[in-house]
Amino acid sequence: QKYIGMVEDCCCDYETVNQLNTEVLHPLLQDLVKTPFYRYFKVKLWCDCPFWPDDGMCRLRDCSVCECPESEFPEPFKKPLSQYNPVCQEGKPQAAVDRTVDTRAFSVWTVTDNPWTSDDETDNDDMTYVNLRLNPERYTGYIGPSARRIWEAIYSENCPKYASEESCQEEKILYKLVSGLHSSISVHIASDYLLDEATNLWGQNLTLLYDRVLRYPDRVRNLYFTFLFVLRAVTKAENYLEEAEYETGNVIEDLKTKSLVKQLVSDPKTKAACPVPFDEAKLWKGQRGPELKQQIQKQFRNISAIMDCVGCEKCRLWGKLQILGLGTALKILFTVNGEDNLRHNIELQRNEVIALMNLLNRLSESVKFVHDMSPAAERIAGHA
Ligand code: FAD
Repeated sequence: QKYIGMVEDCCCDYETVNQLNTEVLHPLLQDLVKTPFYRYFKVKLWCDCPFWPDDGMCRLRDCSVCECPESEFPEPFKKPLSQYNPVCQEGKPQAAVDRTVDTRAFSVWTVTDNPWTSDDETDNDDMTYVNLRLNPERYTGYIGPSARRIWEAIYSENCPKYASEESCQEEKILYKLVSGLHSSISVHIASDYLLDEATNLWGQNLTLLYDRVLRYPDRVRNLYFTFLFVLRAVTKAENYLEEAEYETGNVIEDLKTKSLVKQLVSDPKTKAACPVPFDEAKLWKGQRGPELKQQIQKQFRNISAIMDCVGCEKCRLWGKLQILGLGTALKILFTVNGEDNLRHNIELQRNEVIALMNLLNRLSESVKFVHDMSPAAERIAGHA
């Protein structure tokens, strides 16, 4: 029983989080991310790495992203045929991605910059829509110096592991968010792993789950922390998300999307058991508050820019989506003070909302997998 009591720096305990996740959040999120609104993500996949030359270390075909056939696009996302100009990636016809963008699809959403990230959807050059359902986050074979260098750059330059008493609360939070996301990526690799390349057999790799995540209790704690942090952002934006337009041209599906969002953000069980998953009001209080906020914002923007250097396309897709999701959570929690001001003072881009909910779903999947599989993984590792 390593994980009992309150999740560090949060306002709910592990048992409650597991119960709420299993009974309410995970099932709702699984349905929500399948809706047409939430399954298409707009992303710039081929970008120049501002830090190192692109070293494309990807070994497997599974690294490349399958684009959506045009027939699958929700009607309002489609552009006039004359603008349809698919461009092949990596010389593979099967990797052709539609990069043109229909600005009409974004008419009901604002297009202001997110100060927390370097990418944003107002920058339309080389953007494409990707169907996330066709591109699950799983093992891709992206390993070795290229992958390690990215994580190293993120940790050493932008959010060093804090020395317990020295760092302030705000700096610890940035580290914990990145570490929690890193744990979640490792959990997805373990939950959907290529067990046998010759027969293309995929399945769970519980040894990897143990070796990369479970044997380091702080990585598990950071995963729970990140989940609650993002959940707090989603519930804080309750009114905004409930009133938002989820228009894709498919009336029935869009009504379902709205109803699922409403159930998720205002679920009575969650409100009763974990009303404030994370208390952001206690941050940025000291004299250094504003300066600290700017510094952390800059560090997070750097992390966001590093995503352009991830040398595996599918990893880059999910890296960008999840960093945008974290940036959106930071924007919701730290841009405006107080619940009442939120509705009037925050503006979210459609892609930010899509990233935020898909990130929450990924974290929810990871929390569930860790909770369900820990006993078996520890038994296999000989630590039960
Ligand atoms: P890594 O996971 O590369 O970790 C490097 C070092 O970071 C470790 O040695 C350890 O010191 C430290 N560390 C590890 N976990 C944590 C943690 N939770 N908190 C703090 N420190 C930690 N691979 C895929 O197969 N599929 C993907 O979808 C995928 N997406 C990726 C997305 C991004 C943005 C990046 C940078 C990489 C991605 N990768 C993906 C690669 C994957 O994350 C690993 O880098 C790779 O599997 C090699 O793992 P590793 O065991 O060398 O350790």
